[in-house]
Amino acid sequence: MTSYAEFYRQSIDQPDAFWTEQAALVDWFTPFTRVCNDDNPPFTRWFEGGQTNLCHNAVDRHLASRGDQAALIAVSSETGQEKTYTFKDLHAEVQRMAASLQAIGVVKGDRVLIYMPMIAEAAFAMLACARIGAVHCVVFGGFASGSLASRIEDASPRVIVSADAGSRGGKALAYKPLLDEAIRLSSHKPEAVLLADRALAPMTLVPGRDLLWADLRAKYMNAQVLCEWLDSTDISYTIYTSGTTGKPKGVQRDTGGYAVALASSMKHIFDGRAGETYFATSDIGWVVGHSYIIYGPLIAGMASIMYEGLPTQGMDGQPNGGVWWSLVEKYKVTAMFSAPTAVRVLKKQDPALLKKYDLSSLRALYLAGEPLDEPTARWISEGLNVPIIDNYWQTETGWPLLTVANGVEATPSKFGSPGVPMYGYNVKLLHESTGEELLLPNEKGVVVLVGPTPPGFMQTIWRDDARFVNTYWKSVPGKMVYSTFDWGIRDEDGYYFILGRTDDVINVAGHRLGTREIEESISGHASVAEVAVVGVADALKGQVAMAFVVPRDSGVFNDAAACLKLEGEIMKRVDGDLGAVARPARVHFVSLLPKTRSGKLLRRAIQAVCEGRDAGDLTTMDDPAALQQIRHRLGAA
Ligand code: ATP
Ligand code: MG
Repeated sequence: MTSYAEFYRQSIDQPDAFWTEQAALVDWFTPFTRVCNDDNPPFTRWFEGGQTNLCHNAVDRHLASRGDQAALIAVSSETGQEKTYTFKDLHAEVQRMAASLQAIGVVKGDRVLIYMPMIAEAAFAMLACARIGAVHCVVFGGFASGSLASRIEDASPRVIVSADAGSRGGKALAYKPLLDEAIRLSSHKPEAVLLADRALAPMTLVPGRDLLWADLRAKYMNAQVLCEWLDSTDISYTIYTSGTTGKPKGVQRDTGGYAVALASSMKHIFDGRAGETYFATSDIGWVVGHSYIIYGPLIAGMASIMYEGLPTQGMDGQPNGGVWWSLVEKYKVTAMFSAPTAVRVLKKQDPALLKKYDLSSLRALYLAGEPLDEPTARWISEGLNVPIIDNYWQTETGWPLLTVANGVEATPSKFGSPGVPMYGYNVKLLHESTGEELLLPNEKGVVVLVGPTPPGFMQTIWRDDARFVNTYWKSVPGKMVYSTFDWGIRDEDGYYFILGRTDDVINVAGHRLGTREIEESISGHASVAEVAVVGVADALKGQVAMAFVVPRDSGVFNDAAACLKLEGEIMKRVDGDLGAVARPARVHFVSLLPKTRSGKLLRRAIQAVCEGRDAGDLTTMDDPAALQQIRHRLGAA
């Protein structure tokens, strides 16, 4: 058995041999003639000459061996519906959708924008696009008209696939009026809109434009639509980044490289075995949803659970913090993928819920999207009694960049570290101002990649090669390297620790501090559920740290003395961990923090409010009340 170190070295030193072997994990209609074309950096082209299809690899190729096994398990605690589609069922549904799209006029290369809740039809639509070579552009179903309109404008879709409504916390959220308004706002107009009707909200159809999926489905019930064999470098989809730090970027991905990267990551990183069940709690609107709800598990021959609803709501619609664990038990989930933000929500629930269900099928819980703080990691790892595997990546990378590849060699995890560089990623740490490579352990630098970038990595920004090059590849003077815009350090054993985003650094009286480090210290206090720290302009010190804390016990809010006591304890803790320079000027208590719809802290918005500036583009924000509360607290202070 090869060690991970050898495996990694081969991927960097002999990429052609390495990736040729990985490419055997998927089916090719035409074999590729060139593995990696890096002639025109930073644009890397994988598996040129090869032809394949994502839908074929996710669905068709499993029909003979596991056609009657579960492929997609659609569960909604919003509607109480639960339905399992076998690979055969999925194959039939995808062909119905593909035939419908073709009937509307969609051809290879056309964009299809998918604005849908977490229902099976969304998966059918994505796979149908892949099947016929259309480029899907999934927009998170919770976005309102403004965000949707700018994405319609950018993607210029021929067709939009949507639904009457989504649902959150038992309340229907009508999509159709938001979609109609977005189309009105956009200068690009789709030729047709295909709508799934869940009977959650009334819909007014626009004649000549709007079509009902049920009608077309009935019409194409027995449709057979062959897979369109695509060039490996043909575009499979575009997806926008979360917008945590600014205007979202339209990440564009290929076909063959992505298929290989996912098949390979399912084997080496996620230990996904055909015939088993995978459960990623994300949303199809995010990259995790693309890679590890839809394509990755299906390519691996696994059943994938698609879950609509809150983590704290039972199938009967009543509060139930154990709903996810009940699904793990029922479907014998072996690998689960979630985000620290979701675990923090569950942490506020009764810990007995973790013991109520039989979770013996579960081999590991994977978490990504945000730094995983140690108290959260410990809580969930003790509760589940399985390894908690942090994995660091970006919408841009498509699959993990830092984690541990237990499928290659059992590798211990370290609390606070996502792990080591994944195969194919030539990761370096560079000094922020000189751009020199940091070779010694425990030096803090910017995490960058040296090209060629691995399969699955973004090809470019949709229709904007210049923005791709200028945004990502030119931030270090004199060097063409890809910047992640995240800080990191590497310890003696080669493990990386992510210290936050490069724009989350504050300067207090000449000391540069990462807001992340201060947050880490504060979140170690037993009474703290969540925390955000931002730097706020200060006439004397340049900047000071300001902390916003969600206390575990909501009783604190109405008790001025308790607030004062907790604030004092928190300050003392930071003094002890990091020194008095890092001590927050104030600790404000709030019931929720402003986040993106993908659950990431929106520090830039908090900072803007603290400094009395306009909070900027808030279209990606989850709950405006959070920002309102911060305004209120600051006003009261
Ligand atoms: P935008 O690029 O539009 O500002 P975003 O960076 O939040 O938005 P994503 O691609 O969804 O969009 O998030 C990737 C970022 O999330 C990473 O660059 C990193 O900052 C953070 N991140 C992801 N996983 C981890 C992790 N395991 N540990 C620490 N940070 C993580
Ligand atoms: Mg980003």
